[in-house]
Amino acid sequence: MQKTHFDIAIVGGGIMGLATLYHIATRTDLSVALFEQGRLGGGSTHKSGGFVRAFHANPQEIEWSVQTLRFLRQYQSETAFNPIGCFYLADGIDSNAVGQALETMTQLGEKVDACSEQEIVTYLPQLQHQARKTVIHEPNAGFADPLKTSLLYAELAKQAGATIFECAQITDIEQTHIEQNDIAADSPLTLHINGSETPITAKAVSINLGAWSPEFLHKLGLPSDVFKKGIQADTYLVNEEDFPPFCVLDYQTDIYTRPFGHQQQLIGIATQKFDVDLHHHHQSDPAQQAACLTQLNTLMNPQQDKPVALGGRIGFDGYSKDFRGKIYLSKAIPNLCISEGWSGAGFKMAHGAGEHTMKTLLSAISAI
Ligand SMILES: Cc1cc2nc3c(=O)[nH]c(=O)nc-3n(C[C@H](O)[C@H](O)[C@H](O)COP(=O)(O)OP(=O)(O)OC[C@H]3O[C@@H](n4cnc5c(N)ncnc54)[C@H](O)[C@@H]3O)c2cc1C
Repeated sequence: MQKTHFDIAIVGGGIMGLATLYHIATRTDLSVALFEQGRLGGGSTHKSGGFVRAFHANPQEIEWSVQTLRFLRQYQSETAFNPIGCFYLADGIDSNAVGQALETMTQLGEKVDACSEQEIVTYLPQLQHQARKTVIHEPNAGFADPLKTSLLYAELAKQAGATIFECAQITDIEQTHIEQNDIAADSPLTLHINGSETPITAKAVSINLGAWSPEFLHKLGLPSDVFKKGIQADTYLVNEEDFPPFCVLDYQTDIYTRPFGHQQQLIGIATQKFDVDLHHHHQSDPAQQAACLTQLNTLMNPQQDKPVALGGRIGFDGYSKDFRGKIYLSKAIPNLCISEGWSGAGFKMAHGAGEHTMKTLLSAISAI
């Protein structure tokens, strides 16, 4: 007989859902299943630039990112982690917060340093003078492949006994009626799958829906402070000497750039696009490309040869004005844990955030 009851059900097979699945499957004896409406890692995760760095103004974000970096180092070839080093242009962040972040990272064993003028000239000769105020260097950070990382989490979780359903869209989650069956008291939640007459029951449910989160939560009658916002990432044919051979990200403009194969650079920026139809593939917008390159010229010396756009995509993530990434138990539906609002930064925090989601779910279950 097919199993239709699990201790924990995870909705959403992006990097957040899969990292959570991995932690639960490999570290507990609980039965756990993940439901993804399409293919694993096919949402925002698939569009991600894959940048991973630990420097953040918020200590929680540092801790989660350091955990991700450790995982990527452990599985460097499987995740295609490339630790080429990362420079973060932190001008605009409060200097006390910068100092505290450097201290926290050092305590966690992560190499980091605030660059001197001489180091900037050595490593980033292309950087415009006004962008040189506060430059943070993480020599062991870099980028990885978000899809490979997602599939690795899935594989490790399956080896540890987890169940994964692809092409299984959850349409509704409701509290199980006690009289419905004899396991109801132990299975407070029922999940309905599109096109299936067999519901799934679970003690606790984890929702990890990225940009799909606000619509889904509103459908359940739950509030959400998250909105959808576009991020564009394009690949360009470039003269390699015009660009540093490192990851460079800018706090003020949200621009990011890194090498992307021979004579290519991946360059992206958060857009002001909020009008999203998540079911359609989004070609990159040439006007956005032009604006991004103009902004880039304010950071780096105008390139000798103008980068030639080869293609790109606009992806979307769940953003919030008030937080970057929140994991919490719903007040209205018991044992429902929500992870949302990763604001263009979820890949690098997924390992730590997934562990935190697991702990939140365990605290809910232990109260049953
Ligand atoms: C262009 C771009 C570049 C980025 N670059 C970086 C970067 O360099 N570094 C970084 O850290 N972050 C980056 N991000 C952000 C990062 O990709 C996201 O924060 C992260 O992938 C979010 O993961 P998630 O699992 O929450 O969401 P998603 O990956 O979107 O996963 C949600 C999943 O839920 C599924 N789903 C939706 N509804 C249902 C349903 N009803 N039932 C079942 N399944 C459902 C979707 O199909 C999807 O697979 C970037 C994002 C974009 C778009």
